[in-house]
Amino acid sequence: LNTSIDLDTKEIFSWMEWLAGFGLTKNGGVTRLLYDANWKNAQHALFERMKELELEPYFDGVGNLFGRLKGTVENDKVILTGSHIDTVIDGGKYDGAYGVVASLLAVNYLHKHYGKPKRTIEIVSLCEEEGSRFPLAFWGSGSITGKYKEEDCKELYDTNNINFKKAMNDTGMINSSKKTKRDDIASFVEVHIEQGAILESEKKSIGIVSHIVGQRRFNIRVKGESNHAGTTPMTFRRDSVHLASELISYALNKVPAIDSSLVATVGKMTVSPNIPNVIANEVIFTLDVRHHQESVLNQYCDIIFSFFREKCLQTGMELEIEKWVDVKPVEMNGNLTEICRSVVTDMKVPYKEMVSGAGHDAQIFGTYCPTALLFVPSVNGISHSPKEWTKMEDLRNGIVVLFELLHRMAY
Ligand SMILES: [Zn+2]
Repeated sequence: LNTSIDLDTKEIFSWMEWLAGFGLTKNGGVTRLLYDANWKNAQHALFERMKELELEPYFDGVGNLFGRLKGTVENDKVILTGSHIDTVIDGGKYDGAYGVVASLLAVNYLHKHYGKPKRTIEIVSLCEEEGSRFPLAFWGSGSITGKYKEEDCKELYDTNNINFKKAMNDTGMINSSKKTKRDDIASFVEVHIEQGAILESEKKSIGIVSHIVGQRRFNIRVKGESNHAGTTPMTFRRDSVHLASELISYALNKVPAIDSSLVATVGKMTVSPNIPNVIANEVIFTLDVRHHQESVLNQYCDIIFSFFREKCLQTGMELEIEKWVDVKPVEMNGNLTEICRSVVTDMKVPYKEMVSGAGHDAQIFGTYCPTALLFVPSVNGISHSPKEWTKMEDLRNGIVVLFELLHRMAY
């Protein structure tokens, strides 16, 4: 085990600040949206750094950037490692960017210390994950794994009415001679900030992710009848706010009884006509439900929706349930997780096995090839903000674990 790699935190800091320079905002955050000028400059600069580090760089047909370190075994499949380069508007310096830098540093140090690997390693700076410019997310990993085809972006526009495909072609960084959908990837490894406060509060330096949660989102419409707030006796009312509040209370109160790691959120509510002295004829509310087991999501939804239906029948009101997000939970690869566990145990780094409540590129790869996802702590659990911050020592631990993991996988 080589935990004494001569990687100091100053070097990591300077890489992170360098990359954050492409799109740095006046608040100290970063705005780097898919195919915009900051994005282009960052990908181009990373291309040059990869060249300096003797990692053969190339772009694919959607602007994903790869740096290839060819292995000695001929015609072998590729170990892919990296994360995404795009950010939300005025986001942080670490979300995505850290995973790209971590992969570059880890692979560079492997190359320096051990020479050529047996198995080919590629670093990837994925073009897009956040969905913050166009109404589509995971464009980078989705294009590599075949979840998306090129024509999926043709009809999409950003808020300035710029067409997705045109923005992509205008970057001049699209290499259509390279196959974007890959069938030569053996495994994917991602390091990412936690974006939550669990690791920090439990004083752990590394999170080994076992599952990425599944998510379902619903619009629920309750239809009653508008009437006068003064002259309609309570027993004659079909008050949609009254019923909706009962349904919401039931749905949220039920959560702990189903599973301790299940979460449900009603984050948006629209009342019609939304007038103080009129009984509301309609309420539409959202329900967001997340858990890492499909069976738990099914069980919860069955229970609450049958209660909803029964209550609507009893009160003579109409109910519509529309599901508009259904993302399946994804399990990370057991063998890779086991190697991660043995690496952190050997390093004596305090770690935790955990579930990711946020979506990541690793969830797209996780359904396509053996995948591992590692977390480092986020100070105060803050992300998607200029206040996003991870201690340099934790950033270093993440890189050393990745270095050791890739060593065991590729050498
Ligand atoms: Zn991210």
